[in-house]
Amino acid sequence: MQILCEQNITEKLFTLYNQLLAQHGNRKWWPADTPFEVALGAILTQATSWRNVEKAMDNLKNADAFTAEEIASISQPTLERLIRPSRYFRMKAQKVRAFVEHIAERPMHVMFTQDVPELREELLSIYGVGPETADTIILYAAGKPSFVVDSYTYRLFSRLGWVTGNYNYDKLRALFMDNLPHDVDLFNEYHALIVGHGARVCHKKTPNCQECRLRGSCAYYKASE
Ligand code: SF4
Repeated sequence: MQILCEQNITEKLFTLYNQLLAQHGNRKWWPADTPFEVALGAILTQATSWRNVEKAMDNLKNADAFTAEEIASISQPTLERLIRPSRYFRMKAQKVRAFVEHIAERPMHVMFTQDVPELREELLSIYGVGPETADTIILYAAGKPSFVVDSYTYRLFSRLGWVTGNYNYDKLRALFMDNLPHDVDLFNEYHALIVGHGARVCHKKTPNCQECRLRGSCAYYKASE
C-alpha cells in the first residue's frame, strides 16, 4: 500500500475529521458498558456486521454468560451456540475462550497499567487478537491512544485518493499515529466517524456521493462526474 497524500497530512486529517463531524455529529463510541464487553464485541465483530454481534451479545446476556467469569463457567458447545449469530462461531468461541483464560491470569485492569506498545504486544500474543482487535481494546476499553483502522478506513482513503495498492493495516494506522496528536477522544471519535460514514454514506457497492460532504475533494467522485 502506498500513501499518496504526503504534503500537509496533519492539516488534511483534521479537515477530514471536521467534515465528517459536521456530517454525522458526535458518535459517542464504543457501544459497550464494560472493558470486557468492549473486548468481547471486538472479537465477535471480526468479519461480520455489528448487527450480528448484537444478536450474539443478546444471547449471552439472556443466558447469564456475559462476564468473563460467567463465560469461563459454560461449556464450549454452549458458548458456540450462544455466539452462533456472529458467524465463524467455532473459531470465535476459541478466541473468546483464549481471551477469558488470559485475563483470568492477567486481569484487564492489570494489563491496562502498561503503556500502549507493551499493552499492544501483550494483546497481540493472545490467540485470536489481531491488530484491529488489539487497537480497539486499547482505545475503547483501556482508554489509551492507539488508532484503529479497518476496511471502512481503507475504502474511504482509497476513494479520496490518499492511498493506493493493497490494504496494509500497519501502514494505514501509521498515517494517523504519525500525524495526529495522541489524543484518546480524537482517536475515539475519528474512528467512529469513519465507520459511520462507511456504513451510512460511502457504501461498498454504491456510494451515496450526492449526500457526501467530502465529494469536493474525492478522487472517486471526480472520476465519476
Ligand atoms: S464522494 Fe462518494 S466515494 Fe467519495 S467519500 Fe463521499 S461517498 Fe465516498
